[in-house]
This record gives sequence, structure tokens and C-alpha cells, in this order.
Amino acid sequence: MSAVHTLHNFNAPAAKRADPRVAKREADKLAKRLRRQVGQAVEDFNMIEAGDKVMVCLSGGKDSYAMLDVLLQLQRKAPVEFELHALNLDQKQPGFPEHVLPEYLSKLDVPFTILEQDTYSTVSRVVPEGKTMCGLCSRLRRGALYTHAEANGFTKIALGHHMDDMVETLFLNLFFGGRMAAMPPKLKSDAGKHIVIRPLTYCREADLEAYAGIKQFPIIPCNLCGSQDGLQRQQVKAMLADWERSAPGRVETIFRAMGNIAPSQLADRALFDFAGLSLREALEPGQPRWLVSTPAD
Ligand code: SF4
Repeated sequence: MSAVHTLHNFNAPAAKRADPRVAKREADKLAKRLRRQVGQAVEDFNMIEAGDKVMVCLSGGKDSYAMLDVLLQLQRKAPVEFELHALNLDQKQPGFPEHVLPEYLSKLDVPFTILEQDTYSTVSRVVPEGKTMCGLCSRLRRGALYTHAEANGFTKIALGHHMDDMVETLFLNLFFGGRMAAMPPKLKSDAGKHIVIRPLTYCREADLEAYAGIKQFPIIPCNLCGSQDGLQRQQVKAMLADWERSAPGRVETIFRAMGNIAPSQLADRALFDFAGLSLREALEPGQPRWLVSTPAD
């Protein structure tokens, strides 16, 4: 995997940034960096192949706008032909500005669909008041997206998660789930019918935020439903932000570790044959065992 370099030039002194020529140069650099990172991720993980029909999921947030924008640019120069199709799932949250995405997408050279499904009513009925609704909401959304993709012959589903989301998920699983697992750049759904890709795998959230500002994407706020991230996610976000302030680049180092696993240095017996480590050729029949077998064995 290639190294990921992110230069936060938008932290340049305000006076310098105010110079339109400097601002333009920095904006061009940022756009180029995002194109390079998305292109690299697509190549490293073989995310898009010739003839693919890619459903690009747009929520109205900064990340998915940036993903569609960069993929459209890459499509023009790509060595293989593939289709892009934008999709927004209108979940019927109160106050959702229905006109924003169709207006934006009509101006782009990309086919699009607004899929209407009232998951909001279901979630607000089922989840007790005061509890975060995001878990159930995401599951229902995923189901709707998978069903639509299958019914319309999409070969890939592109989601706008970025490096910071992936590292955050790693710590959520580590701290609260007792598992070392994150969000993969590419995955096959449990039913084996869908391939999900995350082209923003190598992109940093701060860059995507800056890009959204420059491009003036018509952002739809994410809190329309009144729900909030769970406390655990907030804690992990705050911890990572704190680390990043005191040790810039730490998130990228952690991300690199996700692509550099040493199973023999961990303790997962399914990934490494610790029992088979022996100076003898093989365990001999009848050799005394040190462990009492458990049903799990
Ligand atoms: S913030 Fe609202 S719309 Fe977004 S995942 Fe959570 S419940 Fe769903």
C-alpha cells in the first residue's frame, strides 16, 4: 500500500490565505491530492473494474459530495470504462430539503435517482426516546441500498467513509466490542450479492471539509432527525482529535497499521497456528496435552 501524505495547507496564516492566488494554488493542490488518493485507493483495492455500474450513495453531507465529484473527474481519465450513477435515499426526516440534491445533480453530467423510503417513522417508533437512533437507521438504510442495487444491476456500491471514520471504527470495536476490526475499503455483503467500496479510504476528513467549502457543496445537515452520535463514538472522536493535536499524523500511522497486520504477533488462533509451533516435526499421537479441552475447542 502506498504511503498517505496529507498536507493541511489550509492551516496557513490567514493573511497568506486571503491572497486569491495563494488560495487558488492551495485549492488546486487539495483537489489534486484528493484525486490522487482516490485513484490510489481504487487501484490498490481493485475497487472499480471495466464495465462496472457503480451506485454512488449521496447523503447530502460533505464526504459523499466530494466522493461523487472526484469519481466523476477520475472517470474522464480512467483507463477503463465504467458507469457512475448517483443515488440519494430520502429517509423522510422532518425538514429534509427534498429539492437540494435534485437541483445539484441536475447540473452534473450524471444520472441520478432519489429513492424515497420512510425509515424515519420506523426508527422513531421503535427506538426509545433519548436513545441514539443511528444503529437501526443505518441498518435500514443499508437494506434499502442493497435492495435497490440488486434490482437495478449495480455491480458496486460506493460509500463516502474516509480514513478518520475507519480509524474511529477500529477504536470503537477495540474499546467497546473486544474485537480488532474496522471498516474495510472493500467488502462483499453477508449475502454475497453486493460489493461495497469506499473510495475515500485514503482521504482525511479535514481535507474533505475544506474541499466542500471550496466547491460550495449544498450541504444538508446531518442532525435533521434529532439523533446524535452515541456517547462511545463521541469519546473516540474526542480521543483521536486530542492525539492528532499533540502528535500530528498519528491517525495516519494507525491507519497504516491496519494494512500491516502481523498475525503471529497477536493472539488469534484462527489466524495463526500457535498450537502447531513446535521444534518437533509434528505432535505425536498420545502426547500429553497441557490444556483441558473445552466445548469451544
Ligand atoms: S443522524 Fe439521523 S439520519 Fe443519520 S444515521 Fe443517525 S438517525 Fe440516521
